[in-house]
Amino acid sequence: MTLNIDLLVNLVYIVSAVLFVFGLKMLGSPATARKGNLLSSLGMLIAIVITLVNEIKLPWENIVAGLIVGSLIGAFAARKVEMTGMPELVALFNGFGGASSLLVGLAAVFVAGNTTFTNITIILSILIGGVTLTGSFIAYGKLSERLPSKAIQFSGQQIFNGVLVLAIIVSAVMFCLQPAVDSPWLIAVIVLSLVFGIMITIPIGGADMPVVIALLNSYSGLAACAAGFVLNNNLLIVSGSLVGASGLILTNIMCKAMNRSLNNVLFSGFGAAKVSSAKIEGEVKPINPDDAYLILEAAQNVCIVPGYGMAVAQAQHVVRELSDHLESNGCEVSFAIHPVAGRMPGHMNVLLAEANVPYDQLVEMDEINPRMSNMDVAIVIGANDVVNPAANEDEGSPLYGMPVINVTEARTVFVLKRSMGSGFSGVDNPLFFGDNTRMLFGDAKESISHIVGEFKS
Ligand code: NDP
Repeated sequence: MTLNIDLLVNLVYIVSAVLFVFGLKMLGSPATARKGNLLSSLGMLIAIVITLVNEIKLPWENIVAGLIVGSLIGAFAARKVEMTGMPELVALFNGFGGASSLLVGLAAVFVAGNTTFTNITIILSILIGGVTLTGSFIAYGKLSERLPSKAIQFSGQQIFNGVLVLAIIVSAVMFCLQPAVDSPWLIAVIVLSLVFGIMITIPIGGADMPVVIALLNSYSGLAACAAGFVLNNNLLIVSGSLVGASGLILTNIMCKAMNRSLNNVLFSGFGAAKVSSAKIEGEVKPINPDDAYLILEAAQNVCIVPGYGMAVAQAQHVVRELSDHLESNGCEVSFAIHPVAGRMPGHMNVLLAEANVPYDQLVEMDEINPRMSNMDVAIVIGANDVVNPAANEDEGSPLYGMPVINVTEARTVFVLKRSMGSGFSGVDNPLFFGDNTRMLFGDAKESISHIVGEFKS
């Protein structure tokens, strides 16, 4: 009996695809996420090996050498990159995914006898890959704060973008009509898509970045899917579609979390920037950790609201300790999780899971807000935009309309941060001047450790 190699490869691809689907499903809960990650990685390993053996016919030593070098680089990056650097790393990964699709599309232009369908997939692979590449690099710049997180706008931006889209469509159609390696239309599509990636990302303001990151993630999947059609590789088509679809679902979740439509996020930045006219009134009332301890010691209900600053301070472990002390003191403690807190979806869940905070203590924003008026103390740890009351009250604020955690309704609010500085969106926060707000200035880990020390003694 002769073994049909194509059949075998496709069977292995099905196994990989099944592993991807189960892996994705398991990533949906912090309890199973690690296993899900391993399962998907195993699917990818199997897929890479069978593809290299079948299509490229490389000697085994080369494949093993490549796997070892790749794994070493991956392990080094995983150890070296700080937890706070993860969101930027993810943005870079998306960008590299786009770059690969662009290069695959470009390489396929050199193959003789491409059909019109293949040429269309080639141009899509280059186009989506190019947009993803530069868009993700701008996102990387904003997340790492190498670029300003505020929207970058100039007059005539909308018209410029409209002309850009038109030029891309014309160039793409012209290339498909007269495909050639040295076609000027091909160069035009590459350059214009790279410029378009920049143009669609720079006008997005800081607070809207979660939506854009999810969308770029989806684009990287669609680019891989287009590359799959170019290479006629079934698994690349399936895995690209899975990433594209899950990225779109995440985009939708992020839009809902921010009470914004995708159109509004993508195109409102193209118009004039909102300017808040509201004047912040009230005075700042600082508190020291000793006094904060006395209030917490008497509290019956405490809500902890973590944000990006908790990740920066790496305070999650001492926060868990504080929660344990409060509970042993007879206090009920809950953690309020805002969907866009931190710098990547699920950021707070990951940090709190790392510190072994029980999942049943994590409460979503919609559930905690109605309970907020029962809280004796709300402790805001390195969160800013996600607790900014201007989102509820100030129509001129760029945050207006975004649901936030209503900590102002708690009897007392402690805000732990180092300065009066604004959050990622660059919007001032009236919470810091509230009557019931006490500012506990300093690094969050140090402040909480001090309070924990008081509980211990
Ligand atoms: P913010 O970025 O609004 O605020 C973080 C705060 O943490 C800062 O005001 C900072 O104040 C404080 N901080 C920093 N370091 C420390 C430290 N060592 N100790 C104590 N405090 C510290 O964070 P939020 O989580 O409230 O909001 C997230 C923002 O990021 C939103 O605008 C969201 O839209 C955006 N975003 C979210 C993404 C996601 O997927 N979750 C992705 C991209 C953007 P100070 O400097 O004074 O200490």
